[in-house]
Amino acid sequence: MFIIMVRPKKYRFVSAFPKILYFKPHGMLSELEEIEMYVEELEAIKLKDLDGLKQEECAKKMKISRPTFHRIYRRARKKIAEALINGKALKIERAAMVNKRVFECLICYYRWDQRGGSCPKCGSKKIRSNFMVR
Ligand SMILES: [Zn+2]
Repeated sequence: MFIIMVRPKKYRFVSAFPKILYFKPHGMLSELEEIEMYVEELEAIKLKDLDGLKQEECAKKMKISRPTFHRIYRRARKKIAEALINGKALKIERAAMVNKRVFECLICYYRWDQRGGSCPKCGSKKIRSNFMVR
């Protein structure tokens, strides 16, 4: 679980950093146009298309509203279509990620940044660590 921070200071949760950061059409080396994709867009595609979740579930997982999820998802699909149809490269943004560790309680959802075995607020040991992304 990772968190992405988007201007202005909005957190979006993603389950993983992308493994592959660049896709390009085979044999098209010159004058290749690049489309920049954001990690949150990739996550939207993963949740909806790969994991087959409903939009409400996707939005919940990313901790954003359904209309916001829909907007991100539509934008992601459009970029992928653009790359496939018009032979453009897809570049996944990574520069904006910051490896700051964040802990989250799975019971009360409290978040803190100090390592520890239990939630400082409710004492639960059901915690997970995330990475904050900016
Ligand atoms: Zn707690």
